[in-house]
Amino acid sequence: MKWETIIGLEIHAQLNTKAKIFSSAATKFGEKPNSQACEVDIGFPGVLPVLNKQAVIKALKFGLAIEAKINKFNIFDRKNYFYPDLPKGYQISQLNFPIVSAGKIKIKVDDTTKIIGITRAHLEEDAGKLVHDMFNDYTAVDLNRAGTPLLEIVSEPDIRNAKEAVEYAKKIHSLVQYINICDGNMAEGSFRCDANVSIRIKGTNKFGTRTEIKNINSFKFLEKAIDFEVERQKCILEDGKKVVQETRLYDQVKNQTNSMRLKEEANDYRYFPDPDLLPVEISDSLLEQAKADLPELPEQKKIRFIKEIGLSEYDAEILTSQKSLADYFEALITNHKENPKLCVNWIIGELLYYLNKEQIEINQSPISAQDLSILIARIVDQTISGKIAKDVFKEMWLNKGSADEIIAIKGLKQITNENEINNIVDEIIANNPSQFDQLKSGNEKIIGFFVGQVMKATKGKANPKKVNQILREKLDLSKQ
Ligand code: ADP
Ligand code: MG
Repeated sequence: MKWETIIGLEIHAQLNTKAKIFSSAATKFGEKPNSQACEVDIGFPGVLPVLNKQAVIKALKFGLAIEAKINKFNIFDRKNYFYPDLPKGYQISQLNFPIVSAGKIKIKVDDTTKIIGITRAHLEEDAGKLVHDMFNDYTAVDLNRAGTPLLEIVSEPDIRNAKEAVEYAKKIHSLVQYINICDGNMAEGSFRCDANVSIRIKGTNKFGTRTEIKNINSFKFLEKAIDFEVERQKCILEDGKKVVQETRLYDQVKNQTNSMRLKEEANDYRYFPDPDLLPVEISDSLLEQAKADLPELPEQKKIRFIKEIGLSEYDAEILTSQKSLADYFEALITNHKENPKLCVNWIIGELLYYLNKEQIEINQSPISAQDLSILIARIVDQTISGKIAKDVFKEMWLNKGSADEIIAIKGLKQITNENEINNIVDEIIANNPSQFDQLKSGNEKIIGFFVGQVMKATKGKANPKKVNQILREKLDLSKQ
């Protein structure tokens, strides 16, 4: 049977405000347990929540960036459930009147562009965290995270395979960092993803029963969890059985999803408008403030890189895929406006290769844009060749010296002195008379052999352009 996969993602992006969404307690990660939970977060009786304006502005920025409808009237609801990490017995969220609805984002998979609809993005508070490994016989609760502002971003069921899901999640991940509303740190849980997955026979309209895989915190696991879940559902349906609508968890060690609990419905949560919070009315001036705070968006940046700097669409796409990468490139070309392509090649060719190999992010790179800028300057002013520059880059990466220091210490400065090169060329011609005869008789390919020999004799330091030029001059002379 030919199956089609249907996926919708729910992403929780932790908003990077200083204070919590309904209290003034700090949101800093990694502090002493329970040192950042105040009376409001702990749910003491008699306390009242006060909405953090910055969280609202950040949600508005997201809405504007995905060309969504901004709901100028939105409401906070209580979502009631009972779990030890939720002291109030309810989470404040938005059900029927979210702050943002009906947006979209463009993704690209295997050269095909596709629009994924974003149903809604609503504000809510995070819960605390249960700690199972701190005490032998007890589970502890750390409420530092309780009340941290989250933006829950819900996609339409427009995604058709795991690769598209990963592209979509990466696009959102990049965007929230671009517009500075979330630090995107997946390891610290600032960006988490739930995947809703179902399958149906290709060509049919009705959606199949879905399962929801909760709390996936890496793109790799998102892809693996969806692929596993699709196969699992296929086996069930091909066996003539039914998929149960439920919440599942991905086990990264066994690479499988396991049932966690049966799916709850909205009415299980007895949602009702929070009587302690007024409906939020978004004024025009607040919306203007959010607009003014929006930086250049990735798509706009890409177009500028193509039109103003002259990059290819392919290069511009890669360089704008993350804000940190685009910033690096922009810092690099401030000193190399004449050579943007050279800068692109060094970033995409060397830097990304090394970052990838070591699995680190660009802001952890041992070579800063300023460091690389000096290296490129030494290629441009012909102190070293591009080939030697790769060795210098490697040395800079490993031992963190500056390009100039490494060139000086290792004696890598290019030989550009024509007399010096001339003498070496003469020597090599004298040692290889039959090859030189072949060259004279018109075998142009042999020129590579001579350039290679000169490079070998000079340990790669001869300026290849000059070597070529001198060789050709000698060839012409010998033909006369
Ligand atoms: P809930 O809050 O109960 O999880 P929502 O209606 O908010 O439910 O939907 C959650 C997500 O599930 C959305 O991203 C939506 O696109 C997706 N979704 C809905 N139906 C299906 C389906 N049959 N298969 C896959 N995804 C689905
Ligand atoms: Mg859900």
